[in-house]
Amino acid sequence: MRRVKYFPEVMEIEAYVYTAGPVGTRWLESLRAGKLTAAYCPRCGRLFLPPKMYCPFDFEEVKELREITPIGVVETYTAVERDFYGEPLKERKVLAFIKFPGVEGGLIHYVRTDKPRVGMKVKPKWRDERKGLVTDIEYFEEA
Ligand SMILES: [Zn+2]
Repeated sequence: MRRVKYFPEVMEIEAYVYTAGPVGTRWLESLRAGKLTAAYCPRCGRLFLPPKMYCPFDFEEVKELREITPIGVVETYTAVERDFYGEPLKERKVLAFIKFPGVEGGLIHYVRTDKPRVGMKVKPKWRDERKGLVTDIEYFEEA
């Protein structure tokens, strides 16, 4: 029988320290302004998330972010009830992969709901005080 190995550490999603890069920085600034944007490729016209400097389909340089309608759809999710040490969390956390109509890719973020489901429409709950972080969206909630 194989034993599962793990590192008792802060979850990566809560510990990013990488620079965001030029396009990522602009994306985070749009979050601070309370707007959800996606990278726009001038060659193929696709919108995609997370934003990248180059289109993942044709490698065209991304120079523009476009605001998108912040109503997403839960593509898949998981519910977390225990921490890395096996201790129960104060409240269950739902993490979901959220897609936005007309946008390639999507975002992984918290969804606050008692009954998560695939296909659920969600909208962001913005923090009042925003810092230019993905956590400026405190969580998504049913739209
Ligand atoms: Zn493209």
